Order: sequence, then C-alpha cells, then structure tokens
Amino acid sequence: MKGHMFNTKLIHGGVDGDELTGAVSVPIYQTSTYRQKELGGNAAYEYSRTGNPTREALEKLIAELEEGIAGFAFASGMAAITTVLLLFRSGDKILISSNVYGGTFRILDKVFHSFGLEYEIADTSDLKALESRMGPAVKAVLTESPANPLLTITDIAAVSELAHRHGALSIVDNTFMTPYLQKPLTLGADIVVHSATKYLGGHSDLVAGLVVTNKQELAQRLAFLQNAAGAILDPFDSWLLIRGIKTLSVRMDRHLENAAFLAEFLRSHPAAEKVYYPGFPDSEGYNIQKKQASGAGAMISFVLSNRYDIREFYKNVNLIALGESLGGVESLVCHPASMTHASFPYELREKIGIVDNLVRLSVGIEDKYDLANDLTNAFQKAEKREA
Ligand SMILES: *Cc1c(COP(=O)(O)O)cnc(C)c1O
Repeated sequence: MKGHMFNTKLIHGGVDGDELTGAVSVPIYQTSTYRQKELGGNAAYEYSRTGNPTREALEKLIAELEEGIAGFAFASGMAAITTVLLLFRSGDKILISSNVYGGTFRILDKVFHSFGLEYEIADTSDLKALESRMGPAVKAVLTESPANPLLTITDIAAVSELAHRHGALSIVDNTFMTPYLQKPLTLGADIVVHSATKYLGGHSDLVAGLVVTNKQELAQRLAFLQNAAGAILDPFDSWLLIRGIKTLSVRMDRHLENAAFLAEFLRSHPAAEKVYYPGFPDSEGYNIQKKQASGAGAMISFVLSNRYDIREFYKNVNLIALGESLGGVESLVCHPASMTHASFPYELREKIGIVDNLVRLSVGIEDKYDLANDLTNAFQKAEKREA
C-alpha cells in the first residue's frame, strides 16, 4: 500500500493493479477454474465460487476501507444479508430496526421465519426500549443508520455495547453512509453489510453486496458460508465495483453538497410539510449523527402537503427519475409506501411513519440548481386548483 489515508486507499487499496504486467487496473479473471500443478498441491485458487482474484481484490479493498480483517462480495445486497443470516440457527432471534430495508424484513418474515429463525422489530434509536427486548434468544441486533426512509439515527456505539453486554452481535447495514462517512466496525459493530448497488458502485450499473467483519471467528464462518451458499459476485461486476469505489469520495462530496442545498430548498417550500434530513441541526439524532459519521448523506424524505397531488408530482419530475434504488450519480425519487416498503403491512407502515404521501429523494451529482428547478416545476404542476 502506497499510503494509508482514506482517499488514497480508494485508489490503491486492496490489490493495486497487476504485478505481472504492471497494468494499473486489476485484471478481470473471467475463469471458473484453475489448472493445478499436482494432485493435493496447495493451489492458491481452485474454483471461482471459492476464490477468484478479481473478487478477492474487491474483498481486500472493502475490508481495508471498513477497517475490518476480511471482506466478502456477493451477487446483491440481499445475497450478502442472507449469507449473514445463515450464521444463525433455529430458535435464535434477531432484533431489527423498525425502519430496516424492506427486503431485509421480507427475507426474515417470509423465509427465515419458516426455518425457526425469529425476528422482532425494535426502535433501535430508543436504547431503553431496545434493552427491554434483549433476552437469551437474541443473538444479534441488525441496524441501519440513518435508516430508510425516515432517516432515523441509531447510536451504533451504544447499540453495539448493549448487544455485546447481552451476548449478541451488532450488525450494521452501512449502505446509506459508506465507509467514507461512517465506519461501524470502529464504533463497535461486528459485521458491516452493504448494498454496493448504491453509493459504492455509484453509477446505477451493477447489483452487488459486501460484508466485512473484524472478528477472526466470524470471518472463517462467513468464508465457509459464502462458498457453501455460493451467492458470489462475478469477476466482471467485481471489477466494475472496484472501478466505482475509486471515485467514492469525490462523488460523495458532491452528493453531500447537493443534498444540503435541496434539503434547505424543500424546507422553505410550502409543498413539503415535513422534511427528514439528518443534516438539519434540529433533526432528531443530529448529535449522534455528528458524533458517529462525518456527513449527513444524500437521502432526503419529505411529506408532500395534501394541497398537492402526489401522482401528479411523480408524473412531473423530469430530470429526477421515478425509480427504485438510490446512491447513483443520477437523482432518483421514489414512493416508499408502494415501492421500497410495499412488503411492510399497511398498519406497520403507518405506525412507523411511512405515510402514503411520503416522498424519498436520492440526491445525485447533477447541478443542484437544475434539481431544484425540476422539483419547483413538478410542485407547480401538482398543486391542486381551488374548486
Ligand atoms: C438496496 C438495499 C439493500 C438490498 O440490496 P440489493 O443490492 O438491492 O440486493 C439492503 N439494504 C439497504 C439499506 C438498501 O438500500
């Protein structure tokens, strides 16, 4: 490694180019298997589900960026989360944040539940409430901070300490922050998961998941499970993700600048009844966010005033695309109640604040004035006329 600062690691971390040829870009080892020199010899690579040099370069890179000891790359964020959940067994219970990613809730509710792995939804931003849920069956607390889509903040250090005190693991989905803004392992978490489809990839051109741990025993079990279940990331997408990660900090700086600008814009616009953005000094959990992360991220949610027609709003955003996903260079807007959180039952959605007129914005890196103009125009078209 030619340097140890974060921005240098983004470019030269993991495996820095190719030793054999001097190529500055890690080669794509598009191979399923490897010629072995002799029977029973200790080949470095045997089969690409078990190990592939391009994937390994990515895995070393994300481990360095998250300050863990081992990284694992998967075919999607959900494949990463599923593999982490395979660490547990029938009778175990996992506590999840009430605002956890919809797919995480779905796999626990619809799949793992039928194998006897239980889950309970807890408000992880309320430590007292969380503590009362702990018990011998609870083997992990799975949190996201800021959590989707209301950007609720969880104190990662406090939750990790609490989990450890009760013999449970602390697992953090760091998708919204990336290691550029927040490093959960340094705050006490045991496992970090990512949908690298979002900011790490950054260009809406791949689907991938990553896992990092700083515990030897967990690293061994995760390596076993990654190979056993086999939901690995392929060599080409591993290479593409390495490429995306190189520009993470320059992209994030612009994402942050644009989001801060649009959050203020929305707050002063009558169409937005309430704006959720962890960068507002009067937002809930602001001091915790300030303590554990070096930025507010680029996700904003707002409640559209009922004087505006929500369908017309979505129809009339133009530069900003209506779509699932987030974290790409292009701005996206989505409707959590019918899109990302459709797998939550209606009562649960209402209870945790995912109301039907909630809008979630993933702020891209376009010109911020163009983005504000696009919203202004969509609001104008969506404003209900007096009868
Ligand atoms: C998108 C997302 C996931 C799932 O990742 P995929 O790559 O879509 O499988 C998990 N957690 C969070 C926070 C996400 O935003």
